[in-house]
Parts: sequence; structure tokens; C-alpha cells
Amino acid sequence: MPPVPKTMSGILITENGGPEVLQYKTDIPVPVLKEGEVLVKNEFMGINYIDTYFRTGLYKAPLPLITGKEAAGTIIAVHSSTGGFKEGDRVTYLHDHAYAEFTAVPASKLAHIPDGISSQQAAASMLQGLTALTFAREAAGLDKTLGLGEGPWVLVHAAAGGTGTNLVQILSVMGAKVIGTAGGAEKCELAKKNGAQWAIDNKNEDVVARVKEITGGHGVDVVFDGVGKATFDGDLEMIARKGTLVSFGNASGPVPPIDVLKLGAKNIKLMRPVLFNYIVTQEERDSYTAELFDLLKSGKVNVKIHDIYPLKDVARAHSDLEGRKTTGKLLLKL
Ligand code: NDP
Repeated sequence: MPPVPKTMSGILITENGGPEVLQYKTDIPVPVLKEGEVLVKNEFMGINYIDTYFRTGLYKAPLPLITGKEAAGTIIAVHSSTGGFKEGDRVTYLHDHAYAEFTAVPASKLAHIPDGISSQQAAASMLQGLTALTFAREAAGLDKTLGLGEGPWVLVHAAAGGTGTNLVQILSVMGAKVIGTAGGAEKCELAKKNGAQWAIDNKNEDVVARVKEITGGHGVDVVFDGVGKATFDGDLEMIARKGTLVSFGNASGPVPPIDVLKLGAKNIKLMRPVLFNYIVTQEERDSYTAELFDLLKSGKVNVKIHDIYPLKDVARAHSDLEGRKTTGKLLLKL
């Protein structure tokens, strides 16, 4: 392994705000490893909507901050006691400070990238793929529908986005009848290509009316909503009796406080899950990661890469994501 340099490039935030607060620096100190950590030279970093929340301050973290939650690369140094991980291993992880040349990662947060999966695929799939898998199974309890013939009606908002694509593909494998919403005809086509049986153009169609029409008045049994504020009230209208509303994001802003009495109208179950709370134990992380890798290898999950942005152009990537100009996954590369 080449010697570890003293400084590195990365994206630093010193104040919260718009994409302009993402500063590209080339003189950030390389992290010093602590017990149980390895140093990963990042090859591809995944961009996720959560990165924008830490940038704006919607989600709090001490500043200055190197943001970013997911990457894939090669281990170039190890502290003692890092389990089965050694220099030269190809790995992927979900951990803080990924928008940088090097990241110190606790060995417990790492996974070896198996043969047959590229670093690009791994960095593009971990956070959004595990979100889709854990939410479908644990938030909505949908794996029970596997192999049971006609599945429930499920609606996925932003079905052509990163998480939406993973959800549509995994729910289709599970046997659900998937309706996607997306902004514009092109995104709707993509949602259908990914396995949505119906796609509703949220810019030009009345989503609630179309859902009632498609489901013959039944409504949807499950809603996956990462859009948040703009779609929440419509979700309550189009959900079926005894339905499950999985509200998991804030792309249009956080959902305001709600009156729980509204849920009684149809005995609705409301969930607000967070991926990281489904992968707390080593067993949870390892088993879900192994399952995701199998889905990737079999091609059942195959997310389109929207673009690979140079790390220094991260502000443009955030603007594109927040401007609804993207489909599938956005990646960064040095
Ligand atoms: P996406 O790739 O899905 O991009 C966001 C999409 O949301 C846009 O492309 C757009 O799709 C749709 N959208 C609708 N209204 C707006 C709006 N006003 N502003 C911006 N976008 C809008 O992003 P991600 O897959 O990274 O994340 C999707 C959501 O899932 C986010 O809210 C994120 O926080 C959440 N999430 C939550 C997790 C958790 O643990 N709770 C884990 C992972 C993701 P269109 O134009 O087609 O409507």
C-alpha cells in the first residue's frame, strides 16, 4: 500500500444553507484511526437526500462537517482489531464523512464487496437498497405476500428516484401490485420500466383520483412516501381501510404535526421509519446486506445511474437532486 498522505480533498460545510455552502477543499487532515477503525480510500460516494438535510440544518450535526453517508472503495490502513478486514480489501459502508478522499470507518459498519458486484454498484445501492428492503419487510410487513398470488395495492411516490426505483423493483419481486407516481412522462416511463404496473404523472394528473380509478375504489393498502409535506394529506385520502402509511422523508419539506384522530377514519397504521434503526445489530446489518447483494447479482435490483459527478461539483449534484432533475442514483467520484 502507498503511504497514507497527511491531507486530502473533501467537501466541508462550515455553515448551513443552500448548495453553495458545500466547499471543495484539498487540505483537509486525513483522519487518524481509532480502535476498531479502518481507513477507506473512497472510489465512489453515493449522494442521498439525507445529505441535503444535514447541509440545510433540517437534521443537526456539529459543524464543521464532512457530510455524506455511503461509499465504496479500498482499505488502505487498519488499526488493530478490525475483524476480518485488511489492507487492499474492496469494501462498502454506510457511515459519516463519506464526501472525501479518505474516510475512517468502524469495521462493524463495513461489508466486503462480493465478486460480481462493482464498487460503483455497491456505492449506488447500499443506502437506498437497504431502505427499500427493510421498509418493505419491516415497516410495511410486505414479505408475507411473497408467493401468495395476488398481492396488495402499493403506491410508491417518486418512483423514478433512487429510493423509489429500489422500492418498485423489490415490491414487484415480492408480488405487490405497484403504482408509482413521478414528475413527468419520461419519469413515469422509467417507473414502469422498473416494474410499476401503473405510473401517475404527479405534475399533470390528479393522483388521488387516478388511484381510486386504478384500484376500483379500494384505495392503496400501503403507501411509501418520501416526498413528505406535499403528499401526506393525499395519502390519507387514497389509502384503503386498514392501510399502512410509511412516511419516510422530506423531499418537499417535513410533514407538519398531525392530528392522530384522523387515522381512526380508516384504522390507518402510520409509520415513520429510519433505515439506521433497522440495521443496528451486526446480524441485522449482515443479513440485510447479504440479501441486497443477492438481489443485485441476480439483476432483480438494477438502479440506473443518473450521473457520476466529480467531487468538486457536488453543489451542482445537490441542486439537480433538489430541483427534481434526476432519476435513479447520483454518485460522486474524485
Ligand atoms: P430521490 O432520488 O427520490 O429524489 C427526490 C425525488 O422526490 C425527486 O426526484 C422528485 O421526484 C420527488 N419530489 C417531489 N416533490 C419534491 C420537491 N418539492 N422537492 C424535491 N423533490 C421532490 O431521492 P432519494 O431517493 O435520495 O430520497 C427520497 C426520499 O426518501 C427523501 O425524502 C429521503 O429523505 C427519503 N429517505 C429516507 C430514509 C429513511 O431512513 N427514513 C432513507 C432513504 C431515503 P418526482 O419529480 O418524480 O416527483
